[in-house]
Amino acid sequence: MTEKLTVSVLGTGIMGAAMARNLVRAGHTVRAWNRSPAKAEPLAADGAQIAATPAEAVRDADVVLTMLYDGPAVLEVMRDAVPGLRPGIVWAQTTTAGIEAVGELAGFAREHGLVFFDAPVLGTREPAEAGQLTILAAGPEQGREAVTPVFDAVGARTLWTGEDGAAAGATRLKLVANSWVLAATNAAGEVLALAQALGVDPQSFFGVIAGGPLDMGYLHAKTALILEDRLSPASFAVATAAKDAHLIVRTGQQHGVRLDGAAATADRLTRAAAQGHADEDMAAGYYASFD
Ligand code: NAP
Repeated sequence: MTEKLTVSVLGTGIMGAAMARNLVRAGHTVRAWNRSPAKAEPLAADGAQIAATPAEAVRDADVVLTMLYDGPAVLEVMRDAVPGLRPGIVWAQTTTAGIEAVGELAGFAREHGLVFFDAPVLGTREPAEAGQLTILAAGPEQGREAVTPVFDAVGARTLWTGEDGAAAGATRLKLVANSWVLAATNAAGEVLALAQALGVDPQSFFGVIAGGPLDMGYLHAKTALILEDRLSPASFAVATAAKDAHLIVRTGQQHGVRLDGAAATADRLTRAAAQGHADEDMAAGYYASFD
């Protein structure tokens, strides 16, 4: 039988709220905290305990799971959690934070005696709600016993990349995967904008590529959100995707590669956010074609 744990979920946005619900469903005691309490409070009806502060959320936890916007937000929240932290707590850091930030967060973990797991996830709102995420994980053997039931509750599979969370092997793989997701989403928006501008029925384009190697489920999924006006609620918001695109461009620069496509995607997402689409699904990057 799987051990029942006390799990603190810090950050209950799109992804964190869904993960917290699945942890409750798996029988774990969940203490949820969110900066804007209104996003954590509905989880009480699912059986989660709502904490007023990060420190209260992490007190007596076996595992702390962070699912926040970016690296600086994680560091800020974990600093606030310090009065409730004790050495030996396992920390599953699932935010897409970037390689440098993961190094800093691992340093914080060392300072406070936490067992650190770099654990970004693949999958968006729907897989998160269904407990079907893919967890990319790096961390020591010690602690895996506690973190595995947590990953099993929120994901369909865990892909281990190594034993040193500080080396950010899981985050490296996550950034590579996200560069593909963002490129595909951007291409879907642009191909739709061009088709419409040229008076080409998008369906005839879909017909041309149907069944061949250029066809792609993701193209249909993302263009449908635009064509059917289903950009809210977002699965992955424009503002968050822009953050990830900038992170990928910067990371490429730091590692000696130019990522001009990712830079253009970052610009388009930033422009779409400024046009008022920040909270819509990242497919709304499409609107950057019409400013
Ligand atoms: P989201 O719904 O915008 O949630 C972001 C969370 O971060 C919210 O709880 C927000 O609190 C909190 N936050 C932001 N800045 C903060 C700060 N300075 N201090 C404290 N809390 C702060 O985003 P999401 O889609 O769940 O994404 C969360 C993370 O997962 C991101 O790193 C994203 O890149 C990654 N991710 C997302 C997806 C996806 O498809 N959505 C998939 C894989 C990975 P408030 O509610 O108070 O704003």
